[in-house]
Order: sequence, then C-alpha cells, then structure tokens
Amino acid sequence: MKNKTAVITGGSRGIGRAITLKLAQSGVNVAIIYSGNEAAAQETLKLAQELGVNANIYKCNVSDFNASKETVNAIIKEMGKIDILVNNAGITRDGLVFTMKEADFDAVLDVNLKGAFNMIKHCYSNFIKNKSGRIINISSVSGLMGNAGQANYSASKAGLIGLTKAVAKELAAKGICCNAVAPGYISTEMTAALTEEQKKSIAQAIPMGVLGEAEDIASTVAFLASDSARYITGEVIRVDGGMAM
Ligand code: NDP
Repeated sequence: MKNKTAVITGGSRGIGRAITLKLAQSGVNVAIIYSGNEAAAQETLKLAQELGVNANIYKCNVSDFNASKETVNAIIKEMGKIDILVNNAGITRDGLVFTMKEADFDAVLDVNLKGAFNMIKHCYSNFIKNKSGRIINISSVSGLMGNAGQANYSASKAGLIGLTKAVAKELAAKGICCNAVAPGYISTEMTAALTEEQKKSIAQAIPMGVLGEAEDIASTVAFLASDSARYITGEVIRVDGGMAM
C-alpha cells in the first residue's frame, strides 16, 4: 500500500484515528479530516508522522458542500492524488421521535449521509482519472436493525448502505470499489456517555459478550483498502461480535 494516499473523515479521534494509524502502518499517506477538535487532530498527525508517512490535517465540516470540495482540491494539490476515501465522520443526536427536534434530525443526516455524498462526489473525477479507487463508508448495525431513540442516526446509516451500493454499481466497471463497514458497539468517546449499566445490558445482547475496539474496525477497513479485496464491491461487512446476525 506504499505511495497510496487515503482521506479519512473524522480521522482525528476514535475509530477514525485507529483507521488512520492502521493505514499509516501499511505505508499509506494520510489526509486527516476533522471538524473542530484541533488538539486531537494534532495528536493523530504526530502519531501518523512517527510511522514515517506523509500526513496532513484538514479542518472541514463534511456536511458543507463547498467546504468539502475545497478540502478535496487542497488534498489533491498537496498530496498528489487520492486512492482511498474513508467516510467515517459521524455524530449522534439521540432521542425518541416524539421529542426529537427537526434540527437534530437534519444535523445527523447532514453529517453522516450528506457528508459522505459530498466527499464521494468531490473525489469522483480523481478516481475516474486514476482508473482505481476504494471508497469505504462507516455505517452501523443501527442502520441494519434500527435502534429506538436513534431514528435520525439509523436512517442516516441505512442511507449510507444504499449510497454504498448505488456508488458501487456506478463505479464498478471503472475499477473503483465501494463498500460499507457496519460496526456494532465500539468503545470510543461516542459510546463513553453510556452508563456502566447500559454497557452491561448492551454486552448481554452481543453474542460475543463484549464491546468491540476501534482496531477491530480499522483492520476491516485496511483489508477493504488492500489488493486482497480487489474483487469485493457493494458489500456491507458487520463488525459487531454477532450482534446483528
Ligand atoms: P467519535 O465521536 O469518537 O469521533 C467522531 C469523528 O468525526 C471526530 O474525528 C470528529 O472530529 C469527526 N466529525 C464529526 N462531525 C464532523 C463533521 N461535520 N465534519 C468532519 N468531521 C466530523 O466517533 P466514533 O469514532 O465513535 O465513530 C466513528 C464512526 O463510526 C461514526 O460514523 C459512527 O457513527 C460510526 N460508528 C460508531 C460506533 C461506536 O460504537 N462508536 C458504532 C457504529 C458506528 P472532531 O473531533 O474535530 O469533532
């Protein structure tokens, strides 16, 4: 994977950081997109550079069409090309539909689904020109099963699966693969808000009995980005300890 360049949205923290560092360990140059936490982005940048690859950070709200276009153009200018796009940036604004505010529905769809569309759209001609490329969208078991209190999040993650399959069909003949990874519960800041009791009851619903780690998702993404996965497209890989089986 040496000399390849990957863009990882939300690559600064949590699962995104693990993906960034896993790809960097394989010699992939990394463009790390974050939205506001500069300190976390700087820390990930340092860790990636220590692995000997070319790395840069880009502050960008992926739900902003024009900002994401400018960022993709800047990455291509500074790093030469894009071989791998990982749409990992995601947010939650949980609540029952009864109480969910319209703004909370829109915000989650805007980042989780439209953000991925924006990035794919702006990378499209780069991939076509290179006659190769890997797009990996981070969905969720919530998008496969639905989750009470997460109508916005489940809809965005189910939408990502539809987006993945449509893009896979559009680009397959051009040598570009598009797949999704659907994590179950993974220990990150996103799940840190759960109480110990909630974590215990979640673990009981997981056949393997434990929450996953960010590295579990990173390994799957690294596989999908590698030559070993060259004939896989339009697939959704659950990494969930059997939860959505
Ligand atoms: P975190 O909350 O730990 O990290 C989110 C990352 O996304 C941060 O780097 C953040 O940047 C970035 N981000 C948020 N909003 C934007 C935006 N508008 N534009 C650009 N970047 C943005 O999340 P996780 O690591 O837990 O989750 C990563 C992905 O995995 C998400 O898509 C999530 O839905 C999915 N997932 C997570 C699960 C889990 O159990 N943790 C389970 C299933 C799926 P900054 O720090 O600058 O705000």
